[in-house]
Amino acid sequence: MKPLESIYSRLPVWLQDAAVTAQGAIYARQRFGDAFREEHALLKSTEMAPPLQLELLQTARLKRMLSHAAANVPFYRSVINPKIPSKLRAGDWSALLDLPITEKLNLRRDPFQFCVGGARQKGWIPWNTSGTTGTPITLFYEASAVSRQYAYVERYREQAGVSRFDRRAQFTGKMIVPGDRSSRYWRYDFANRALMLSSVHLNSDTIPRYLDALRRFQPRYLSGYPSAIALLARHALRSPEQSLRIKAILTSAETLLDEQRDAMEAAFGAKVYDQYGQTEMQSFWFECRYRRMHAHPLFGVTEILRPNGQPCRAGEAGDVVLTGLINRAMPLVRYRVGDRAAWTDEDRCPCGRSMPMIQQIDGRKEDYLYSAERGWVGRMDPALKGVQGLLECQFIQEQPDRLRVLFVPLPSFGRDDKERLEANLHERLGSSIALDFEAMETIPRGANGKFRAVVSKLPAHLQLVTGLREVA
Ligand SMILES: [Zn+2]
Repeated sequence: MKPLESIYSRLPVWLQDAAVTAQGAIYARQRFGDAFREEHALLKSTEMAPPLQLELLQTARLKRMLSHAAANVPFYRSVINPKIPSKLRAGDWSALLDLPITEKLNLRRDPFQFCVGGARQKGWIPWNTSGTTGTPITLFYEASAVSRQYAYVERYREQAGVSRFDRRAQFTGKMIVPGDRSSRYWRYDFANRALMLSSVHLNSDTIPRYLDALRRFQPRYLSGYPSAIALLARHALRSPEQSLRIKAILTSAETLLDEQRDAMEAAFGAKVYDQYGQTEMQSFWFECRYRRMHAHPLFGVTEILRPNGQPCRAGEAGDVVLTGLINRAMPLVRYRVGDRAAWTDEDRCPCGRSMPMIQQIDGRKEDYLYSAERGWVGRMDPALKGVQGLLECQFIQEQPDRLRVLFVPLPSFGRDDKERLEANLHERLGSSIALDFEAMETIPRGANGKFRAVVSKLPAHLQLVTGLREVA
């Protein structure tokens, strides 16, 4: 434990509220400065701009970022031909395909190779990654990049009918509630009108207390991990007297499952707006009110690629490769994030935005199961269709011919439910896979409090891997 965390853990609860509020005030100062206002104004004025205008703006940002990386970032000095940026035109980015892909491994091996000047600079804001899929590393942001990022967050909130001035309840993976001693699993950030809820302490026993705290706080919107909010929703659905009326639910950081969305919308009478991004600050994808996922072109360049490096057609799933346009402290060019997605084949969204649209996010490659009959299978939420009486469920695969099914049953869980789940799983993975059901009281969260619906522990050759190409 770091010294500050150790001091925090020994404070009485009310002083922990004060500490969370003080930290919240620091965040607010970092987020809502001049760069925020400038970017926010730009986003507002270009939200409904025609495709060509957005493309021109995006191309200008991309050229600037590539030239900057080629000139100032050690890793890219020998990799990016300085002539390439000048070859890019709105509508013709073929020169981009000549640049190699940056793999996560490159970044992990030596993060400072990606920093401007090869070292941390004054005024940069550090961020430690959770290390869910590898060694934790420290990323650095320019102060103005953090501010600009929040302009996107704010526009995303505004189109959902809420804003930073509204009361918010947020599930966090941060250890704001140390140990198990406390029976209050939330802290108050008075600086941002936020109720911060710990996602790691959430289980069947504690859920009623969370709902109670929410009812007393009366947030205008909820935000955070979909798995956590969906847990509350499933409970609230069974006890309508505990229901909660809110304006919007903003989810992020995990793959949002259809069944989770349905439960949240039914329980809280509010629309769910999903958002996708990374701590590397490479992209900002957000859902509009028509449930289309837009990739904001001014935040980053999104490519979806086949294993041979060629762009995928609409509807064809491939590797997500991103070039961030916001953070100049640590530029990442054509960075393979490890997620899979597909473009939609729709021309235009009913919301009026001309920004490109993502049809589906398949989640991380580690989230795929394997069966001899069906090969790799992603998105396991259809397996839960029609199964009542389940609080939550996790699939762990350690052998190619077996699947562990961890589930938290509700009192109403019966034989029919188990049979239904079994039939759904066989339908999705084939009939020969053996299923081991394990009833649990709670399903442990991973690093950062995140819930993973699927965990593949298969040897590397049975995990879904697409043509990894490393920059030398
Ligand atoms: Zn839209």
